[in-house]
Amino acid sequence: MAQAYNNFLSQLERAMSVKDFGTELYGLLRSPMKQIEHQLNVTMDDGSSRTFEAYRIQHNNWRGPYKGGIRFHPQVDLDEVKTLAALMSFKTAVAGIPMGGGKGGVTVDPKALSQGERERLDRAWAQAFKADIGPTVDVPAPDVNTGSFDMDIIAAEYGHPAVVTGKSVEHGGSLGRDTATAMGGWYVLQQLKDRLFLDPEMFTVVIQGFGNAGATFADICARHGVKVVGTSDSSGAIYSTDGIDIAALHAHKQATKSVKDFPGARNISNAELLELECGVLVPAALESQITLENAARVNAKVILELANGPTTVEADDILFGKGIQVIPDILANSGGVTVSYFEWDQNMKGEQWSAEQVDVMLKDHMEKAAEEVWKRAHENTVDMRRGAFILALERLQQAKP
Ligand code: GLU
Repeated sequence: MAQAYNNFLSQLERAMSVKDFGTELYGLLRSPMKQIEHQLNVTMDDGSSRTFEAYRIQHNNWRGPYKGGIRFHPQVDLDEVKTLAALMSFKTAVAGIPMGGGKGGVTVDPKALSQGERERLDRAWAQAFKADIGPTVDVPAPDVNTGSFDMDIIAAEYGHPAVVTGKSVEHGGSLGRDTATAMGGWYVLQQLKDRLFLDPEMFTVVIQGFGNAGATFADICARHGVKVVGTSDSSGAIYSTDGIDIAALHAHKQATKSVKDFPGARNISNAELLELECGVLVPAALESQITLENAARVNAKVILELANGPTTVEADDILFGKGIQVIPDILANSGGVTVSYFEWDQNMKGEQWSAEQVDVMLKDHMEKAAEEVWKRAHENTVDMRRGAFILALERLQQAKP
């Protein structure tokens, strides 16, 4: 079942049917350049040994080293990692950074691992993929359920900080990397909000996924006085018309490990969350959340895709028909990889930039990317997803050897 990858191919074909890039380019981009799979053997705390399936997919490197995160999730499979790798090639092109696209994944439930088991898994990953990664070859980073802890271990195991990004600041990470995905999404939204007729009065926000990107986006909303009326995590969803107190929700989640049963909010289902009336719906969890099945009931003015691949192509058409504007993942969440590139650049030059410098550069990159995408969408009278793919295709074609 290659559902997610087929969705990516449809997105690519739809963009290529708007602007002609020739069949050669399609042929070169429709498959990854390299697929690597390993079985990772990890000694568990009880002395037993377990094997985990691990992947690294290198989709394209015309514009620079392969770049993209490593995901730990029980549902990780080849189709998913291939899809996410391909999206990275388009994302780095939209962001205008000199990197290509790749992705890694391990089929594992990280919640079931102890700290020591997790560390041994990270080491096993680094050892298995050592020959295929490197600062000028392929530069992994965090993704769903991975973070600086894992990146620090991989960097140490490999022996060079620039081999991965998203490290802790003490180990060569960049200031601002942890908040970059959400911050980048916020800057894109600010850049486009007048053109999207986002009336500040109706600018309420619903965030699916109170994880790294989603919770940071909620913090940014709180700082700007924007009301977050609903959010969720893997255990459930909550809703309050009065707006959720985000600082209190962090404390509640810390204490109970879940957003559910938050005082002053109502527990709802994930399906209900996606259909709440709001200004901006922010999918910040996993793929294929807005589909043929529920798209007609989405009640937002704008969708800001902080997750990768949350909307299927069938849903795109329904949303477009309803006048709901989708700010696509390869633009909306490209702030993460943009600051990853800044981190890599600092490591290569032996520099450490200030938080202000990183923020100014991120804002500038995101505003330019948003403008360029909007221009392509407007010129071709298509949605922003096709606009973003067209922009990426232009840049990929230019870089093609
Ligand atoms: N995993 C993130 C993404 O999907 C970041 C990738 C990176 O920083 O290389 O964009």
